[in-house]
Amino acid sequence: MRQSELFTKTRREAPKDEVAKNAILLTRGGFIHKEMAGVYSMLPMGLRVLNKIADIIREEMNAIGGQEVFLTTLQDPEIWKKSERWSDEAMDIWFKTELATGTEVGIANTHEEPLANLMRQHISSYKDLPRFTYQIQTKFRNELRAKSGLMRGREFLMKDLYSFVQSEKELEEFHEKCADAYMKVFERCGIGDKTFRTFADGEPFTKFSDEFQTLSDAGEDIIYLDRKKELAVNKEVYTDEVLAELNLKKDDLEEVKAIEVGNIFKLGTRFSEAEGLEYLDEDGKSHPVIMGSYGIGVSRLMGAIVEVLADENGIVWPAEIAPFSVHLLALPGGEKEADKLYEKLLAQNVEVLYDNRQDISAGQKFSEADLIGIPQRVVVSERSLEGGGVEVKARDSDDEKVIDIDAFLNKMTN
Ligand code: ATP
Ligand code: MG
Repeated sequence: MRQSELFTKTRREAPKDEVAKNAILLTRGGFIHKEMAGVYSMLPMGLRVLNKIADIIREEMNAIGGQEVFLTTLQDPEIWKKSERWSDEAMDIWFKTELATGTEVGIANTHEEPLANLMRQHISSYKDLPRFTYQIQTKFRNELRAKSGLMRGREFLMKDLYSFVQSEKELEEFHEKCADAYMKVFERCGIGDKTFRTFADGEPFTKFSDEFQTLSDAGEDIIYLDRKKELAVNKEVYTDEVLAELNLKKDDLEEVKAIEVGNIFKLGTRFSEAEGLEYLDEDGKSHPVIMGSYGIGVSRLMGAIVEVLADENGIVWPAEIAPFSVHLLALPGGEKEADKLYEKLLAQNVEVLYDNRQDISAGQKFSEADLIGIPQRVVVSERSLEGGGVEVKARDSDDEKVIDIDAFLNKMTN
């Protein structure tokens, strides 16, 4: 993409109404546009990142047997009345509205009930199990505070997977499989070394749920981390009794702030019983299906990555989710060669943002490149050409080196 054609502009100044680093940098870099507190539109580069994160999650969920669906945002109250959650005071974040006829409908904040109801059409026998169904869909929540940019949206993208199995053992097995898949997601998103599986309150479904917490001072959660065991406990369940049960020692634990990027719950038969989701076993006996739920805040994850990896000059995107792999900068005397290099990189299917703008100073191009955070910066200038090629620098390093253009192109094919 030629930067001269990109409609978004970067900003030098931080937006006055934002306090969170992710919101400030993503707005300055032209990734997102704030509509109101906790409500952000995705601009071209922001959408590229979000889609890449979603695709990583998709791949990892498909790899453990997930089948993707896309459920509706408008929800039928009758389904929620069966589980007694339509009027549940704990669901105080729920946006609801009315049809023209006056009938109330819900605006999706989660999907246990609609999916359990839907699966009734497709599960009736033990032969129909297990099933793992997921979606990547917008959720709406009337959050009281929304000052954390993408990390706490009133409208945000979530991946929610639901498992349908016959036994506690199978539930447990899938729980572990999904936990491993989650760690793969976080590793591919560049925050694997800062993200820890964390025991948290499992109420109202089970004693514990598993959270995936990314260490950051911007986090809203406090966790107690055992770095050696790579395990943590959320403050909300941090009692002597729980520590003893989990075989964790107070002295080994460090109190740290963290961002909940994902969580998994064993739901049991709470929703299948309410919705009448049952199967017949081999002896023709009927049982409620056992369910689990597995969430990742896709847009929160994008915010968390910015929070955790950015430096004083701007965003630092990990390779797999960067909006582009290469940021090519044409500086005076290098325009012609830069044009040629751009075409060749495109022909090799390399994703390039090409700063071909003519009326922008070198200093400005460099600082915008740092702000936008593409992993590799490649400068073509009179000086670089005299030095033998293009000047290449990784966003997360200070080393610059001039390399031959063909050698660079070769490197980009591998
Ligand atoms: P939190 O405690 O942060 O409000 P939650 O327990 O309500 O999260 P779930 O309902 O289990 O979260 O949602 C699954 C995942 O969706 C969470 O782990 C989190 O990553 C993400 N998420 C939840 N609420 C928001 C929000 N308001 N904005 C962005 N992401 C969110
Ligand atoms: Mg919440």
